[in-house]
Amino acid sequence: MTADHDIIIVGAGSAGSAIASRASEDPNRDVLLLEAGPDYADPASTPFDLINSHNNSYRDHDWGLSHSPTEGRTMPLPRGKVTGGSSAVNTTIALRGIPEDFNEWNDHGNSEWAWEKVLPAFKRLERDLDFPDVDYHGDAGPISIRRYPESELVEQQQAFLEAARSLGYPYCDDANAPDSTGAGPHPMNKLGRMRVSCAMGYLAPARARPNLTIESNSFVRRLIVEGDRCTGVEVERDNGLIELVRARSVVLSAGAIMSPAILKRSGVGPRRELEKFGIDVIRDTSGVGGNLCDHPALAISCVAKDPSIIDADQPLMQTILRYTAAGSDKRNDLQIELLSFGANRQGHASFAIAAVLEYTFGRGDLRLASADPHIAPVIENRFCEDDRDAHRLASCFRDTLAFAKAPPLASMIEQVAFPRLDRGIDDETIVKLCKERSGSGYHPCGTARMGPKEDPDSVVNEFGQLHGLANVLVADASIMPSVPRANTNLTSIMIGEKIGEWLRASPTIYGF
Ligand SMILES: Cc1cc2nc3c(=O)[nH]c(=O)nc-3n(C[C@H](O)[C@H](O)[C@H](O)COP(=O)(O)OP(=O)(O)OC[C@H]3O[C@@H](n4cnc5c(N)ncnc54)[C@H](O)[C@@H]3O)c2cc1C
Repeated sequence: MTADHDIIIVGAGSAGSAIASRASEDPNRDVLLLEAGPDYADPASTPFDLINSHNNSYRDHDWGLSHSPTEGRTMPLPRGKVTGGSSAVNTTIALRGIPEDFNEWNDHGNSEWAWEKVLPAFKRLERDLDFPDVDYHGDAGPISIRRYPESELVEQQQAFLEAARSLGYPYCDDANAPDSTGAGPHPMNKLGRMRVSCAMGYLAPARARPNLTIESNSFVRRLIVEGDRCTGVEVERDNGLIELVRARSVVLSAGAIMSPAILKRSGVGPRRELEKFGIDVIRDTSGVGGNLCDHPALAISCVAKDPSIIDADQPLMQTILRYTAAGSDKRNDLQIELLSFGANRQGHASFAIAAVLEYTFGRGDLRLASADPHIAPVIENRFCEDDRDAHRLASCFRDTLAFAKAPPLASMIEQVAFPRLDRGIDDETIVKLCKERSGSGYHPCGTARMGPKEDPDSVVNEFGQLHGLANVLVADASIMPSVPRANTNLTSIMIGEKIGEWLRASPTIYGF
C-alpha cells in the first residue's frame, strides 16, 4: 500500500493550523490539511464576521451544535467551521494558562508539558506588541497580541476597571505575566479591529509552500484502520463524494467535540457505547469522550441608564479580573469579565458582568447519538454538580454583584435585570442558580486526554500518539488533561506549536 501523503491533519483550527504550518516547514514532508468548512485565502476575500474581532461569529461559520450545560437544559455550543476553526470566530482573548496548570499536567505523567517546557511554545506563537522585550514574551511569532489602552476602552469597560480598583483588586498591566493576578486590559489577538486567527497567522504565510495542500469543504467521516495501524481517512467532499485518502500518519485536530467523535466512529472508544451503534470495536478505550472540562459561567444582566452606550459595533470584551477564591489553594481560580453589550429578555439596552469558574473539579462527557457522521454527539457538562465548583462559582457571583453596586458601575445601571435582587438573594439561592443556570465559557477540552498508557482513562501519550493504534495522533484541545485557568485558544495553539515542532524537528518520535 502506498501513502498519498506523509501527514494528514484533520481540522484547520487553532491547533491544526499551527501543526500544518510547522510540519510543512520541512520541504521534504508532504502535508495535507483537511477542513470541513470553507477556506478564505487572504483578508480581502474573508467575510466580515471572521475579520471583525469586536464580536464572535455565531452563525455563518458555525457547526450548529447544542449541549446540556446543566441537567435538563439545551443551549447552543458554538464551534468554528472554517479554516482557522474556533480561532476564526472567537472573542480574541489571548490569555495563557498559569504555570500551575501545566505543572499539574506534568504531575499526571506528562513531563513534556511542565511550565518550563511549554513557555518556549507560548513565546514562539506570539508577537506581543506591548511587551516585546520581556523574557517571558515573544516578539516574532505569527499571532499578534495587543491590549486596549485606556483611551480605547468603552465607558462601561473603563468603569469596570475603576470599580475593581475601588473594591481593592490590584491593577495588572499584563495578564500573561506568569505570576499575574488582578484587573487590567485583556491581552487580545487582534491588529486594530482585525481578528488575527490561526488562518491568518499560520496558514496565510504557509499556503504557498508546494508541500502543503489545504482542502476545504472536506469532512472526515472516520479513520481507515488496517490491522493495528491507521492508514488514512474517509473524506466526504461537498459534492457528496466519499474518498479514501492515505497517509503515513494522521493527526486529529478537529477540536474537543469532533476529534473524540471521529475516534468513536472509527471504533476507538468505550465498547458498550460503540456496540450500541453497531460500530466494530478496534480499541476499547474508556477515556474517549470522557473528562469533558469547560469554564462554567453565570452573568448578571444590567440595564444601562444611558442606552446610547450600548453599541454592538464596539468590542464585546476588553478587560479582565483574575483572582483567587477565599480559602482556595488554586491561584486565579476565578475570573470576572464585563461584556459591553448583551441581549436582555425584555429587549432593554444592557451590558453584563460574568462570574467565571476557572479551576474545575467536575467533569462532563460526550457520547455518540448515532454511527452516522452527520449526527452530532450528545454533550453533557454537568456544571456545578460538584459542590466545590458550585460554591466557588457562587462566591464569584456574589463578588460580581459587588461590582454592580460599586459607584463607577452602579451609576451606569438603571436596573439589574438578572438576578431579581428585590426577591432577596442569599447564599443558598446563588448556589442553586449556579447549579441550574450556569453556562459554557465555550472552552470544551479534555475529551481525549493525554497521560501514560498505564492510566486507563488516558487516550494519547504526551506526544499526542493514540494508545493502542499506530500512526494516529490527537493534537488539539481534546488532549488537555484539565482546563487551564484561562480561555483556551492560546493553550490550543501552544499544543499545535509543540506537536508541529516535534513533527518537524524530531520526526523519529513518530516513525518518520
Ligand atoms: C464563540 C467562541 C468564542 C471563544 N472565545 C475565545 C476567546 O476569546 N479566547 C480564547 O482563548 N478562547 C476562546 N474560545 C475557545 C477557543 O477558540 C478554542 O478553545 C480553540 O479554538 C480550540 O482549538 P482546537 O484546535 O481544539 O479546535 P478548533 O479551533 O475548533 O478547530 C477544529 C477544526 O476542525 C474542523 N473539523 C471538525 N470536525 C471535522 C471533520 N470531521 N472533518 C474535517 N474538519 C473538521 C473544524 O471545522 C475546525 O476548523 C472561543 C470559542 C468560541 C466558539
